[in-house]
Amino acid sequence: MDLETGIERAAGLIKRSHRVVVFTGAGISTESGIPDFRGPGGIWSRYDPEDFTYQRFISSDSARIKHWEMIKETFAIEASPNPAHIAIAELDRLGKLDCIVTQNVDNLHQKAGVSGKKVFELHGNTRWIKCLGCGQRYPMSEISQRLKMGEAVPDCVKCHGILKPDAVFFGETLPQDVLNDAIAHSQSCDLCIVVGSTLLVYPAAYLPYYAVQAGAKLIIINLGETPMDAEASVLIAGKAGEVLSRIIEKVKGSSNDGGALGAE
Ligand code: NAD
Repeated sequence: MDLETGIERAAGLIKRSHRVVVFTGAGISTESGIPDFRGPGGIWSRYDPEDFTYQRFISSDSARIKHWEMIKETFAIEASPNPAHIAIAELDRLGKLDCIVTQNVDNLHQKAGVSGKKVFELHGNTRWIKCLGCGQRYPMSEISQRLKMGEAVPDCVKCHGILKPDAVFFGETLPQDVLNDAIAHSQSCDLCIVVGSTLLVYPAAYLPYYAVQAGAKLIIINLGETPMDAEASVLIAGKAGEVLSRIIEKVKGSSNDGGALGAE
């Protein structure tokens, strides 16, 4: 399917839908300067994923050094939403967005203007850093400052315990209440839009399957292949920012032309 046809068909599906769940992965934030894990030039091209499990983080000084080094160059930077996040916020203003289910930990959907109540963060977030010893919480901005001042592994100023971002690491379980809500919304949506995910990280990647099994249409916007490509009604191998903003412009354009949203 060429790009123009894909954009046209995706806009048509959105117009006919009433409850859209947008499922996002690291690829939606690369245009904001945060690298993904598995795309070209992604984090795993420079770091060994084996060092990034929860077990390694709590048991190894060298793994903690690498982890904070990675955080310093990714989640500790002051990133802004890009046109893809903004287009999804626009979908919300158009009354189409049921919720966002995200694997991301970067807070960019909320920064783009979507209420936190509509964003299910399956892997937590990096806004807060928590002491595993005494539970003291620190905002990322404070820890980011300490990293910039040259601390390799910031510790808790109260008890010198291990500090860990409030994100779900490999080897940790997902927050059950968030996962349950995300499953329920995925099973009751009429359109699921996957943006910037390889759909290789489970259990998160099951959610678009649940949506399709329950009868929802599927749009995938991703530069690389995913195991669900064959299930998609619309598959677009393009950059999320450009593609999503063009789709939303088309949805809005046809509503301005007098056609009622959802009436196509
Ligand atoms: P992934 O790294 O496995 O896959 C990203 C996909 O996005 C790749 O297929 C890549 O080709 C595609 N992509 C990259 N830039 C794109 C763009 N501009 N437009 C469209 N597609 C683009 O990411 P994943 O599936 O989210 O899984 C990895 C894990 O990474 C998740 O658990 C997530 O928590 C974590 N992660 C999050 C962030 C973040 O919060 N921004 C960043 C890195 C990793």
